[in-house]
Amino acid sequence: MHQLTLTEIAAALAAKDFSAEELTRGLLQRIEQLDPQLNSFITVTADAALAQARAADARRAAGETGALLGAPLAHKDLFCTQGVLTSCGSKILTGFKAPYDATVVERLAAAGAVSLGKLNMDEFAMGSANESSHYGPVKNPWDVTRVPGGSSGGSAAAVAARLLPAATGTDTGGSIRQPAALTNLTGIKPTYGRVSRWGMIAYASSLDQGGPLARTAEDCALLLQAMAGFDPKDSTSVDQPVDDYQAALQQPLSGLRIGLPREYFGAGLDARIGDKVLAVVEALKKLGATVKDISLPTLQHAIPAYYVIAPAEASSNLSRFDGVRFGYRCENPVNLEDLYKRSRGEGFGAEVKRRIMVGTYALSAGYYDAYYLKAQRIRRLIKNDFVAAFAEVDVILGPTTPNLAWKLGEKSNDPVSAYLEDLYTIAANLAGIPGLSMPAGFVDGLPVGVQLLGNYFQEGRLLNVAHQYQQGSDWHRQAPSGF
Ligand code: GLN
Repeated sequence: MHQLTLTEIAAALAAKDFSAEELTRGLLQRIEQLDPQLNSFITVTADAALAQARAADARRAAGETGALLGAPLAHKDLFCTQGVLTSCGSKILTGFKAPYDATVVERLAAAGAVSLGKLNMDEFAMGSANESSHYGPVKNPWDVTRVPGGSSGGSAAAVAARLLPAATGTDTGGSIRQPAALTNLTGIKPTYGRVSRWGMIAYASSLDQGGPLARTAEDCALLLQAMAGFDPKDSTSVDQPVDDYQAALQQPLSGLRIGLPREYFGAGLDARIGDKVLAVVEALKKLGATVKDISLPTLQHAIPAYYVIAPAEASSNLSRFDGVRFGYRCENPVNLEDLYKRSRGEGFGAEVKRRIMVGTYALSAGYYDAYYLKAQRIRRLIKNDFVAAFAEVDVILGPTTPNLAWKLGEKSNDPVSAYLEDLYTIAANLAGIPGLSMPAGFVDGLPVGVQLLGNYFQEGRLLNVAHQYQQGSDWHRQAPSGF
């Protein structure tokens, strides 16, 4: 059962091959057996999951249908889940049980999905390796001495290891796409505003966006269909109808115009990854696509701009964690200031503190113009580059990451080298456009991801291209040995 995709599970549940309860029990058992090797879960909600599964079975028995009815998944631990620890991978949220469900959680539950728990992540979604979690690092099931990527590393590892067919994640600078690439999954970051951020603990509010990780584009389409849509509770949510993603999957690719940015294939890219990317381009050409050389001249400024804007927003968002309102509080504070200082000092990890300090500095009087304002101007130039590119092409294709999954600990003392891993993913968040990563083969037994970027609200197009590619490739079907 655990090898099945969500789409296959939907068919099996409809055919009554097994019940949602049997499926949930089977997966809970796998989690118990195998997750100690990976550390992908922070909380397993076994009883609640079984109750949801029985409810899904009852709804089906009453005649209800629906592709997600009884579908197992789990949520990145920054989506608020009522009455369940919502930790954001941080010590500072120790014991914090959210008083309500995030909109994403609520919508998936309403569609009948069964949540098995909460998944490990980099603290406050800051990272590319899932090593900054208070709950310990997550291991990559393809090689447990390596990182699974981050910050949605728990989501990626659990799905790649077949503990779950799908999971939610969030992407502020690549945190869905990069771990998807390093673990052989398909993941999509939607257009900013497509998926509600209500109940998603904020890292950098103008960049954060939730989305699914699964094994196939078809499964991502199913999940995104339920997750996307206007939410009056999120003022940045866009009031625009959601496309029919299942229908979009089936479009032929003849006439598809693919742009290859020359800046993607320069120094910094592992040439073996470059070769896999070009092989995907060849396969898409056979399906009728045409290819054009394009340029994204401001791409080189994306990382520096992001590492000003994201910390600036984080420094403001994280000020609410003060030892008073949520989670962790230091022992025996002598006065209020001591309580603030020690609760934050003890509750936040090193990377989070680094970013709060960088962000506070960049926003401070005298430096605002030099850093934050300048970064915002670069952001506009990056957006303009994409607008110009999408006048000529339908999708932009390239590598998702410059390197393969690295060894645990390899970059932990070198934040800048970790920041450089975001080279290809970050610009999409700065511009607000959608991006998808899909499996494109293996190098030395480690997965390689290809990234597709699309114009605003072109999620359907990205899923379409990935789905058509996956009809003729089987990278996405490969499972890590031992899982
Ligand atoms: N790796 C990037 C960072 O460290 C992106 C993280 C994310 O998308 N949440 O900020």
